[in-house]
Amino acid sequence: MRFAYDLHLHSCLSPCADDDATPANLAGMAAVQELAFAALTDHNTCGNVRSFFEAAKEHPGLVPVAGMELCTSEEIHLVCLFPGVEEAERFEEGTVRPVRVPVKNDPARFGRQIKMDAEDTVLGEEEDWLIPAAGIDLESATEAVRALGGEAFPAHIDRPSYGLLSVLGMFPARPRFGAVEVAKAENIPRLVAEHALDPAKILADSDAHRLMDVNGAEHFLDLPEPTVPALLSLFRSWRA
Ligand SMILES: [Zn+2]
Ligand SMILES: [Zn+2]
Repeated sequence: MRFAYDLHLHSCLSPCADDDATPANLAGMAAVQELAFAALTDHNTCGNVRSFFEAAKEHPGLVPVAGMELCTSEEIHLVCLFPGVEEAERFEEGTVRPVRVPVKNDPARFGRQIKMDAEDTVLGEEEDWLIPAAGIDLESATEAVRALGGEAFPAHIDRPSYGLLSVLGMFPARPRFGAVEVAKAENIPRLVAEHALDPAKILADSDAHRLMDVNGAEHFLDLPEPTVPALLSLFRSWRA
């Protein structure tokens, strides 16, 4: 069966995202858009993932996915998806937080980094500035995600900044990726031609920083069932 997805969404915990992109509003918007899968992928944090899952319980047709958009030491954005909330939080606490640049956020300059519960109650603000590159390279980060049972893929490879191709100019021998992501589906034919990619393994996500930018049911994945294990095992099979 085909299931609609958007696997790259930012909440109000990302400084560059709108403050009203709360976990509850994002889950609501994903449901309105009739997505089967929606992943919360804030910059260098999974701090609102638990609330996003809680909020998604209100929307029976929606499968929430625990994620993070990590900025690696090469300044490549990597979408990291996990089997569940626990693994995502372990990744942040064990792998990312220790190597985040110890710079405090300046909310007036960069935007607030708001942690919310599933009812839009502010729980606090993340003090570490979440945007700078973390001190972990692409290969180590990808291995750490996979060690937790997750899957990682390079984000928006068609963008001129923070994309794997804009930084490296080519795909490295390692890590080997199955899935890759584009920001604009119309760039797929060009990327397929230039980099010999399999168009079936290219994801088109919104990278929404505002509620209105969450994708509609435009892009689909073929899966036996709408579950996170099925999703992750598809991505695993793509790199076999
Ligand atoms: Zn990005
Ligand atoms: Zn993003």
